[in-house]
Amino acid sequence: MSEVITALPASEIGRLAGRIIARSRLVGDCWVWQGGKDAQGYGALTVKIADRKRRVKTHRLMYAHAKGGIPEGRVLDHLCRNPSCCNPDHLEAVTQRENLLRGNNLAARRAAQTHCKWGHEFTPENTYRDHLQRRVCRTCRAELDAKRYAKRKQQQERRA
Ligand SMILES: [Zn+2]
Ligand SMILES: [Zn+2]
Repeated sequence: MSEVITALPASEIGRLAGRIIARSRLVGDCWVWQGGKDAQGYGALTVKIADRKRRVKTHRLMYAHAKGGIPEGRVLDHLCRNPSCCNPDHLEAVTQRENLLRGNNLAARRAAQTHCKWGHEFTPENTYRDHLQRRVCRTCRAELDAKRYAKRKQQQERRA
């Protein structure tokens, strides 16, 4: 697929990007392509390259247009999990391996809780894994550490 896009001049990619934007609908932050889709649900567009008709994916075109190309050997991962979304800000160029790992983790990620039992969100910044690979909330951990520290200090002061 990417070789099709690299065969297109930037001006043609720009023209197609304009067409894609015109045929997409804003849903939240997603630019949802309203035209034809391939079997995986990705937006697809037929373009003519050297008199041959080729199918290109709309999100790849938009990414190539916005970022000036797609890094070689990378696939584009939809961070918004919406395959027909063409918003380049929702796409990340990752290796095939990373993409598979993310896909496999998705079901688990969805099923998992989004917040700790005290209501703090399990964001990547607020989460780490303990030695048993359990998720730990950093906010709770910090509060617990602060309490322990205060208690220890109190005991030391009482002893002194
Ligand atoms: Zn999106
Ligand atoms: Zn917490």
